[in-house]
Formats: sequence, structure tokens, C-alpha cells
Amino acid sequence: MNEKVWYAEGLPFSCTGCGKCCTGSPGYVWIDEEEIEEMAAFLRIPRALFMRKYVRRVGSRHSLVEKKPHYDCIFLKENQCEVYGARPTQCRTFPFWPQNLSSKKAWEETAKQCEGIHKEAELIPLKTIETTQLVQIRRHEKNQ
Ligand code: SF4
Ligand code: SF4
Repeated sequence: MNEKVWYAEGLPFSCTGCGKCCTGSPGYVWIDEEEIEEMAAFLRIPRALFMRKYVRRVGSRHSLVEKKPHYDCIFLKENQCEVYGARPTQCRTFPFWPQNLSSKKAWEETAKQCEGIHKEAELIPLKTIETTQLVQIRRHEKNQ
């Protein structure tokens, strides 16, 4: 990571808690073993029950269940995350995902889906964005 990236001056973002990134289209909230354990502990239920109620297997990986017809994440209730304190890395790091940061255009596309990205929002410094990316990289490497 270096200072030459297009977002070197930081990016404006303040989450409004609108919940739109947790619903709206089919997708995956990938979770690993550690995250499963953390969420089950957060909900104070056994791992086996957590798996049965909230998790779907996708190939060799696990994702949270979605509710039809709007593809809400199983933990989205009245636009709030029921496991917010133990939400997965994928959720914690949005919108600073590699694909959203890959270009200014990609970021602008993300902004169309996320009302927290707008000019008046808090400026998130490059260092924080990079830390967020490191968290994702470490999680990814751990699951290789
Ligand atoms: S869509 Fe953006 S503003 Fe809304 S909850 Fe998700 S991250 Fe926050
Ligand atoms: S776990 Fe929480 S933050 Fe993540 S998609 Fe589900 S409701 Fe949203």
C-alpha cells in the first residue's frame, strides 16, 4: 500500500445505519469458523444451533442465510443488525472493499448503493482505509 492510490487524500464516509448494504439483492456474507464462534457467543447460543438457524453452506465456505423476498440478511431486523457487536469482517469493512476501491468510478458506483458516502460525510483518512484493508487481507490469508 502506498500514498499513490487515487484515494490518498482519504474518502468521505459516515454510516447512517440505513441497513441497505444488508439487503436488496442476492449475495453472500462470508463467515469463517472464528466469526461463527463469535456470533454464537454473542447470541449466547450453541454453535450447532447457530449453524442450523443462520448459516448456509456454499461449496466449502459458509455464508449467512438470506430472507426472501428482499434478500435481507437473516440478522437484519428493522434496519438494525442483531449481531452488530460481533458482525463479520465483511460487514465491518464495508464500503472499503478492494473492488469498491479499485477505481474512482467503482467508488462512485458504491456510493449509489450506500448513502453514507457523500461529500459532506466524515473524511476517512488513508491510514484508516489501509488498516481496514489489512484486516480483510489477514482474514483472507487465515482462511487459505
Ligand atoms: S448502506 Fe452505507 S450508510 Fe447504509 S448501513 Fe450500509 S454502510 Fe451504512
Ligand atoms: S451481519 Fe449484520 S451488518 Fe452484516 S449483513 Fe447481516 S445484518 Fe448486515
